[in-house]
Amino acid sequence: MDISFDTLLQKDSFTKEEIIRLLKASGEQEKALFKRSHDVKLKHIGNKVYFRGLVEFSNICKKDCLYCGIRASNKMVNRYDIADDQILKAAKFAHEHNYGSMVLQAGERSDPAFVDRICQLLKDIKKLSNNELGITISIGEQTKETYQKWFDAGAHRYLLRIESSNPKLYSKIHPDNKEHAHATRLACLKSLQDIGYQTGTGVMIGLPFQTYEDLANDILFMKEFDIDMVGMGPFIEHDQTPLYEYKDDLMNLNDRFRLTLRMISVLRIIMKDINIASATALQAIDPLGREKALKIGANIIMPNITPTQERANYLLYQNKPCIDEGADDCTNCMEARINMADGEIGYGQWGDSLHYKSRR
Ligand code: SAM
Repeated sequence: MDISFDTLLQKDSFTKEEIIRLLKASGEQEKALFKRSHDVKLKHIGNKVYFRGLVEFSNICKKDCLYCGIRASNKMVNRYDIADDQILKAAKFAHEHNYGSMVLQAGERSDPAFVDRICQLLKDIKKLSNNELGITISIGEQTKETYQKWFDAGAHRYLLRIESSNPKLYSKIHPDNKEHAHATRLACLKSLQDIGYQTGTGVMIGLPFQTYEDLANDILFMKEFDIDMVGMGPFIEHDQTPLYEYKDDLMNLNDRFRLTLRMISVLRIIMKDINIASATALQAIDPLGREKALKIGANIIMPNITPTQERANYLLYQNKPCIDEGADDCTNCMEARINMADGEIGYGQWGDSLHYKSRR
């Protein structure tokens, strides 16, 4: 006989079947799940929320992921690559506004000039901030040598979503070629961890063909891999991508949103001291989406500080929020929202993953 839901919630680790049960919770049970993850968060990492000023500096991408609006084959996208001085200006803004950290994210490229450019940018950001600004990068799959170069130049966190821990599902949402191999993505995560990065991964939730069992396995994968940070969010279809064909088979947006909250909640109970980002895609579905995630277990938020004129061209999915706001507007709005979610902003702090510290 199954144990009661309340007894289940008091456990610290779960079987796959138990995770599925938690992911399917609704009504009072869902509320109890959220209460438990909220309590775990407060007890283990407190109510601090850390900023990562996000610069989406280029949408040029050599990959062709079937879900992504900036995939190489999408000829309707206006491609951009923000000049280095503009990126440094954004870094300066983050530093001056006490953000503590920033994230450099872009489509994937790995030509030598690009690799060197990132090295120089990392060094310049460290210099202009007197080493005070923490830097996360998220620029996809690279060789171990490249990851090492970027680490040596000053990046200390890397976010590379596994997208799905199930290789079969992965192959359904990516082209079938060696540029898009699940094994490579996994090997990249391993290299990042070996080099010493705070290593982050994540998945999209509500993908076509995805099952509850897949999602439970994703959580078990994160635990097994012993990741330090997570950024996971709802899948949102984009009409200029091949996966749009399956739009009628998807869970409705609100269900994808709730399921994402339950994924965050379950992961927080299992991995008590990792950093969990409140994904921007949550806000595309619910205007208060990111605050809701902070309340039930997330502790990282990524205010967009990309120069406004380029934001509208980094559309991974439709209905992306804040594409017409300047960075200042974004900060003010964020502060009010975080207070509303009973959080306190960890201004001027890196907010590193406590899990990373204890793992090392
Ligand atoms: N190129 C880097 C990489 O692959 O990690 C970073 C940029 S990539 C666009 C960032 C993330 O956007 C992906 O890992 C993916 O999970 C997410 N993403 C792409 N298309 C999406 C969609 N339609 N809905 C939700 N998330 C999406």
